[in-house]
Amino acid sequence: MTNKYYMPTRVIMGKDCITENSELLRALGKKALIVTGAQSAKRNGSERDVKTALESVGIPYLVFDKVMSNPTISCVYEGASLAKENGVDFIIAIGGGSPMDAGKAIALLAVQAIEEESLFSGHYENKVLPMAFVPTTAGTGSEVTQYSILTNDKAQTKTSIASDLLFPTVTFLDAKYTEHLGVITTINTAIDALSHAVEGMLSVRASMVSNALAVSCIQMFMNCVPDMLQALQSGSEVFDLQQREQLLQASLMAGMVIAQTGTTAVHAMGYSLTYFKNIDHGRANGLLLGEYLKLVERVQPDLTARILAAMNFSRAEQFQKLVNKLLGAKEKISSAEIEQYCKLASQTKNIGNSVVKPTEEDLRTMFTQSFAN
Ligand code: NAP
Ligand code: ZN
Repeated sequence: MTNKYYMPTRVIMGKDCITENSELLRALGKKALIVTGAQSAKRNGSERDVKTALESVGIPYLVFDKVMSNPTISCVYEGASLAKENGVDFIIAIGGGSPMDAGKAIALLAVQAIEEESLFSGHYENKVLPMAFVPTTAGTGSEVTQYSILTNDKAQTKTSIASDLLFPTVTFLDAKYTEHLGVITTINTAIDALSHAVEGMLSVRASMVSNALAVSCIQMFMNCVPDMLQALQSGSEVFDLQQREQLLQASLMAGMVIAQTGTTAVHAMGYSLTYFKNIDHGRANGLLLGEYLKLVERVQPDLTARILAAMNFSRAEQFQKLVNKLLGAKEKISSAEIEQYCKLASQTKNIGNSVVKPTEEDLRTMFTQSFAN
């Protein structure tokens, strides 16, 4: 087990934490580019609060609100051009993982001339624009990671720009922005955080600190499960602000985990489900996580037992049943799709990062079993 911990992002949490800490934005620069998706930041009050905070300290800004889910490479080059043309010297990203990941790539591309062919090379000059992040989903933890995950059409998958340069400077967590997230997005994103925590413990880079954060995240997720199930049954959201805070904190901690450990075979496989079948990122991981945990259980039962103990389970199958309940009816997958996805997954770095490295046959079995009812 490794024992390193590095996470240089300043984290500010609590109600109205953006408007109450606007001074922190002044330290970032003189002109901001606000990066968001098309709608949610305008609806949930986060964009308004950021603008109020910027205006209170006299910082001009412009808004780039064209980030789609699973952001594309052309989207981040477009955002970077806008930043350069307007002499922007810091980035504020508001939203789910998509605008946050796009914000990181924009912060990099605004100050470095990187050709598309070298975008994922990992070799960059030592400069990037400062970044402030405001997560409005509770799942990706991108607000405290060094990864920007983009849709990579050439490789037919999602690929990560990974660099310590991409850790945001500061992140503001205010759960009030997540209050009206729909039930399905709430559950899918929470499952993404759960997957980060569990995969962090299943990573060859797990450490004492990452495991402690992962166990807390898993417990917080489990505390919210009864209400998730009730929300699914009733079709309406039942989460109070305290639970929203708990989910946001769980997501933060799981982000801190994967900043140390990276992700494993589960994310490697899940990227194809998102790229080809348009399955939400968190749901894709949830569909696969139980099967991978069952594979690890056969090889390293003690490690699996430690993870399951945080959920009061003793068998990976119990865990899989619970996640299946949260996911509901599953999509269909063909054997041709499985063959294609196995090839793509086996080429990823995430496989090498997994304590139990699945063979191509294991990947095939996991895809098949994950979609069997
Ligand atoms: P997302 O793609 O950012 O957002 C999904 C949807 O939720 C969008 O339609 C968005 O609307 C909406 N939304 C966001 N906040 C909302 C709110 N408060 N209320 C209502 N609707 C809201 O989804 P995500 O699951 O958060 O992020 C997924 C992305 O993150 C993937 O690309 C994944 O690969 C990446 N990821 C990155 C990391 C990392 O470490 N960097 C880790 C895990 C996942 P708008 O478009 O209008 O905003
Ligand atoms: Zn994820």
